[in-house]
Amino acid sequence: SLPIVALVGRPNVGKSTIFNRIIKSRVAIVEDEPGVTRDRIYSKAEWMGHEFILIDTGGITLDSGEIDEQIKAQAEIAIDEADVIVMLGDVTNHLTSMDETIAKMLYRTKKPVILAVNKADNPEQRNDIYDFYSLGFGDPIPVSGSHGTGVGDLLDTIVAQF
Ligand code: GDP
Ligand code: MG
Repeated sequence: SLPIVALVGRPNVGKSTIFNRIIKSRVAIVEDEPGVTRDRIYSKAEWMGHEFILIDTGGITLDSGEIDEQIKAQAEIAIDEADVIVMLGDVTNHLTSMDETIAKMLYRTKKPVILAVNKADNPEQRNDIYDFYSLGFGDPIPVSGSHGTGVGDLLDTIVAQF
């Protein structure tokens, strides 16, 4: 079976944007009605001949529960289901307590955790990612879901874990 890669992170960091960039070449976005797109949660993806299943855990929501509970449930799913976990941060909001809460959950897993910091759209922002070192997942990888920069480096790092 294919390796499973899960994207985790607080709302609005750009998980769905990165998800769509990674799967873009393989599947069309699901459209229920004209002009309405619905976020996909799972997709097959491929990089440099390595196929894998990508999960956008942000699309998995409980029927009820506060935002914190939703995010914790999403991190639990990543810990249980994934072979490789990608935690996403957002450089424009720096490191938040919610990022720290997610990181603390991920410390419990022995699975590889890759830290990527999104919205690093320009060189100055790429220099601002170092706050995220304190999470303890090693070198953060700067990415821009909007521009696509850094996504190849992230994918190289992901497939190196398989
Ligand atoms: P999610 O809640 O983590 O799935 O985040 P989304 O993918 O829905 O993105 C949240 C917002 O951030 C949207 O308005 C995106 O257009 C924006 N966004 C995503 N990636 C980038 C990026 O690389 N740079 C900038 N400037 N905005 C981004
Ligand atoms: Mg989303």
